[in-house]
Amino acid sequence: MSGTSHNEYLAAARLIAQSRHMVAFTGAGISTPSGIPDFRSAGTGLWRKNDPMLVASATAFHHHPQRFYDWLRPLLLTSQHALPNPAHMALAELECSGILKTVITQNIDGLHQRAGSKLVIELHGSMQRFYCPVCHENSVNPDDVIATILAESIPKCKQCGSVIRPDITLFEEGLPVDAWQQAEREINNADLLLVAGSSLEVIPASSLPYEAYRNGCRIIIVNLSSTYLDLHADVILRADVAAGIPQIVQELKRLM
Ligand code: ZN
Repeated sequence: MSGTSHNEYLAAARLIAQSRHMVAFTGAGISTPSGIPDFRSAGTGLWRKNDPMLVASATAFHHHPQRFYDWLRPLLLTSQHALPNPAHMALAELECSGILKTVITQNIDGLHQRAGSKLVIELHGSMQRFYCPVCHENSVNPDDVIATILAESIPKCKQCGSVIRPDITLFEEGLPVDAWQQAEREINNADLLLVAGSSLEVIPASSLPYEAYRNGCRIIIVNLSSTYLDLHADVILRADVAAGIPQIVQELKRLM
């Protein structure tokens, strides 16, 4: 448990029990226990070989779709086989019991939904959705597209023949406006924010927890490394989320 004491889990559980509108903010760290590598941060295995701008950018998608899909394929394959872990399950359980109102995630793997979470705001989109960027054909079947990508082909639009793209935010692109506005609304309504598995290094997403803090929202952070917001957090659990979040839920059950 990395030196986190029982008292801190109890303190986190008490804040949750007292909250009126609890929101979770999750990052790559909540999916690493499911075997999914960090997609955006530098220094992870994914970027050791590839410069992200050359493979995961809008330019790469438009000019080098083969290179783009060669980068996406292993990520897609990994997430197809990944299962939600106890951290995802614990958040879904908190939502089911009416305590957690929304999950705001930076992840694109869909694991929160597969764990049973219903109200998930995806700040960086989802690898499970695809569309044609030219004719905006939206009846694209994700299973067909994924099968095409895994067969090492480039998926093409049935209407206009253009290259189909995943509904994810690429380098050089802004965040999806709808998701951002929904997230801001939730952050403004929140009186308790649980930051889980995010080092809060990817901007602009990482500015949302600071906005919550400035609004007077209480903050719990469960993350293995430090974040810029630690200074303002009410409780910090230096723990693996897959162990830490279920333990908070256990404490909460004893309180309620
Ligand atoms: Zn099209």
